[in-house]
Amino acid sequence: MPPEFTHPKPAASWETRAYWEGAGRHELVLQRCGDCGVVQHRPRAICASCLSSALQHFVSSGRGQVYTFTVTHQNGVPPFRDAVPYVLAYVDLEEGPRLMTNIVGCDPGDVAIGMDVVVDFQDADTSDLGDAGGAFAVPRFRPA
Ligand SMILES: [Zn+2]
Repeated sequence: MPPEFTHPKPAASWETRAYWEGAGRHELVLQRCGDCGVVQHRPRAICASCLSSALQHFVSSGRGQVYTFTVTHQNGVPPFRDAVPYVLAYVDLEEGPRLMTNIVGCDPGDVAIGMDVVVDFQDADTSDLGDAGGAFAVPRFRPA
């Protein structure tokens, strides 16, 4: 397996703080609209479907399937250059949203469209609040 790169430290906004703090607990946190029921990702202040602000955070199953992917063989930008080849993918979560992520824990040649995957987390040393905040982590996915 190729080496993994260390993701840049996440920077949370007021809209994304619950997502990053959840990731720090190794929980994939999504939003569900209290009015229309749509589940959405990326985190927003309002529902992208009905514009309601009645959003609730919940912990996803962390399971999904690869919708599509690409294998990057050349990237001269650190920290990515140390991890080629790596897999950039869209994953369809069981709850509905599609998110962009990396597939880790397998040879890039073994990744396939429709492959079952489960969330995995790379811990960041601190949050954007330093020692005052809990640690963040970056969600990626690995074969289920
Ligand atoms: Zn809604």
